[in-house]
Amino acid sequence: MEIEMQGLMQHWPLTVDKILDHAARVHGDAEVVTRRLGGDIHRISYAALHDRAKQVSAALMAQGIRPGDRVATLAWNGERHMECWYGTMGIGAVLHTINPRLHADQIVWIANHAADRVLVLDACFVPLIESIRDRLPIEHYVIIADRDAMPANDLGALCYEDWIAGRDTGTPWGGFDENAACGLCYTSGTTGNPKGVLYSHRSNVLHAMMALGRDVLNIGRNDVVMPVVPMFHANAWGMAFVCPAAGARMVMPGAQLDGASIYELLDSERVTMTAAVPTVWIGLLHHLREHGLCLPWLKRVVIGGAALPEAILRAFEDDYGIEVIHGWGMTELSPMGTLGGLMPALADADRDIQVRQKLKQGIPPFGVELKIVDEDGEELPADGNSPGRLKARGFAVAGGYLDGDGGDVLDADGWFDTGDVATIDNHGAMQITDRAKDVIKSGGEWISSIDIENAVLSHAGVANAAAIGVPHPKWDERPLLIVQAEPGARPADHELRDLLEGRIARWWMPDEIVFIDAIPLGPTGKVNKLKLRELHREGKLRAPLN
Ligand code: AMP
Repeated sequence: MEIEMQGLMQHWPLTVDKILDHAARVHGDAEVVTRRLGGDIHRISYAALHDRAKQVSAALMAQGIRPGDRVATLAWNGERHMECWYGTMGIGAVLHTINPRLHADQIVWIANHAADRVLVLDACFVPLIESIRDRLPIEHYVIIADRDAMPANDLGALCYEDWIAGRDTGTPWGGFDENAACGLCYTSGTTGNPKGVLYSHRSNVLHAMMALGRDVLNIGRNDVVMPVVPMFHANAWGMAFVCPAAGARMVMPGAQLDGASIYELLDSERVTMTAAVPTVWIGLLHHLREHGLCLPWLKRVVIGGAALPEAILRAFEDDYGIEVIHGWGMTELSPMGTLGGLMPALADADRDIQVRQKLKQGIPPFGVELKIVDEDGEELPADGNSPGRLKARGFAVAGGYLDGDGGDVLDADGWFDTGDVATIDNHGAMQITDRAKDVIKSGGEWISSIDIENAVLSHAGVANAAAIGVPHPKWDERPLLIVQAEPGARPADHELRDLLEGRIARWWMPDEIVFIDAIPLGPTGKVNKLKLRELHREGKLRAPLN
């Protein structure tokens, strides 16, 4: 449509390089602190990180990298990963974060699909890449290591420090359209091949602005933020953009994500805010309890990527006085979709009611539209009681996958099907009942595996739990509960059933409970239900004799 009257404001393209420019100019002294692979702590200011990121740009340009070319990283969270991030995006090239927890064949597949030209990798991944080197399209390898710690390798790789040494710290950034591609992240799809989500500069900048909000991540310059969630998991949930935009100090945990290591950094660096998937917090809480520790600096913890168990919420909030923010999102949403929390109407409600509400995945911030639909695509009411397919729309929601994979992913009105099943209540709060492919359908009705898992996780002897649907001759499917006990503990069947009694509908009660040494986790630290279903099919899950 032709514009009747043009606005008269400046054209200031929303490109992410401006975020680090801003951090260097306004918050130049704020630090990015990294635990390096060897365990030593490294500190750098945003101003210095900015200069080194510009040197990365110069190094990439010297290797012939042009706008639109793909540069891959295989690295834990660290300041040099950030430098590559901005150094690549700043010149209009596309940063492809590869998840090192993927199977080697999957890494080969996505690197070829993405046509990655450069790979910057942590030294610990050299053996992995050497083993698949002949099948990769990479022209240049760069190893993130100091000169004196450079590993011997068959990759013909450059040492990161040599790669950038002496290069121009004034390489120009920006100057391209804000809709240009900026980052690439493959979904950890459990069926078919992974699909590439291609973020634009504009979507990432707007997502960062959205994430800064009071009811979203609420990050400011007085915060010390530790993204435990890896940069290869959906942009570390936006934090590599949000923190420099706000001028927050960052603490990067590197490869050590166990409870003891996380605690040590939270404490010594006085972290005020952190974020990760529930499994990480199970490890931290265990460590705190075992050693009688507390976290006086930590104010908020964002928990997402999988449903927040009530036991974790209560432990953080009631035992340690740390606010929990439950987040739901997905790679295709950049990734934030909703944040748990209370609407003003529930500010004075009973604690149990508040907890119920906070366990919901929550409210979409401005920029995300949500709706739930039935099997015919008809919108369902927001009554908190009508589960349906969850659809999303917004400025940072995928409109398609790289190379058109998966076909047309939007419906006629531009809605993206998240593949999740959810309810929305009269406060506007969304609650996931299941991933559509994990749904347990019994006698034509849906059973929420998440509700079953959450109830069981409140038992002190349960380290992790998963409910899956298994075939049943009469009901199609019945729930099977799989439990990983805490070391040395063995909760009895009846204790777990007592916990479920009254918290779930009677007919949701699992027919069988089986114990497993370790619940398998997927590449982003979530329970791998596909694997569990496979183990069940193969007869490898057996009920204990108790
Ligand atoms: P990914 O793109 O790998 O982060 O996976 C996104 C999927 O993780 C979503 O579609 C949900 O199924 C699941 N997910 C993310 N956050 C939550 C949450 N807070 N509660 C339940 N499921 C979640």
